Amino acid sequence: MQEIFFDAHTHAHFAAFKDDMDEVLKRALDNNVYLINVGTQIDTSKKAVEVAHKYPKGVYATIGLHPVHTEKSYHDPQELGINTTKEEGLALSNAEGFTSRGEVFDYDAYKELSKSEKVVGIGECGLDYYRLTEETKKTQKEAFLKQIELAYDIKKPLMIHCREAFDDLIDILESHKNELLNGYAGVTHFFAGTKDQAKKLLELGFAFSFGGASTFPEKAGKYSYREVIEYLPMDKIVLETDAPYVTPVPYRGKRNEPVYVIEVAKKIAELKNLTLGETRDSTTQNVLNIFKIKI
Ligand SMILES: [Zn+2]
Repeated sequence: MQEIFFDAHTHAHFAAFKDDMDEVLKRALDNNVYLINVGTQIDTSKKAVEVAHKYPKGVYATIGLHPVHTEKSYHDPQELGINTTKEEGLALSNAEGFTSRGEVFDYDAYKELSKSEKVVGIGECGLDYYRLTEETKKTQKEAFLKQIELAYDIKKPLMIHCREAFDDLIDILESHKNELLNGYAGVTHFFAGTKDQAKKLLELGFAFSFGGASTFPEKAGKYSYREVIEYLPMDKIVLETDAPYVTPVPYRGKRNEPVYVIEVAKKIAELKNLTLGETRDSTTQNVLNIFKIKI
């Protein structure tokens, strides 16, 4: 092992980094942090692949349609840029070439994109019931099912996003149990479910990624990362930043970036009673195994 940390889920290709992406990536690589830039719709997926190809090593991509992008009204300037406008559900591209729209998952377009050797998985895909209404759940499920199908088709694992929808997510995944256990399960990113839900996802073959939120002080009666992280076996834990969001302690208030994954590693080491080196090696090995990456 080459003493490498792996940020398994980040967005260093988003608009939030449009002025200094190369510096941010250099800072990560100079500090032995490798990373996977995660696509969230067709433009950020294409961009993730393009950026991965710019770097001979250490930068990979996943491609997919995030559940909130199946909905027309969602728009995050940090993700897509501030100049985006919408018209009848079709967005006009901004200076960075990103668009925001209610995207219908285009199987063939994503399959074509997946042919790059830098694409290591499908996602982020899944379910997100945080902002959305009842009728959009159906749209999210349809897009998710198509992405599960694509993952089997191209033999790459899933990068799952799930928020306030774990029971429905697990129902869908359980109906694909055999294929998932055949190596397509992948990672549930930013896991914030219960221990019981974690157990069910473990049985389906999933690993779990934790980021900045796990470094925040925990309040009594609120969700506890500590409990879930202590419960999970070390061979099912990976690290993430989800940059530019959810910056870990001690950088809270600043834009998040991949090199801060080391702060997450410190927290996991503390909770699992391991050294930082052991935590780094184990979580990196998990990423290499899950996404079949050779470094
Ligand atoms: Zn993400």
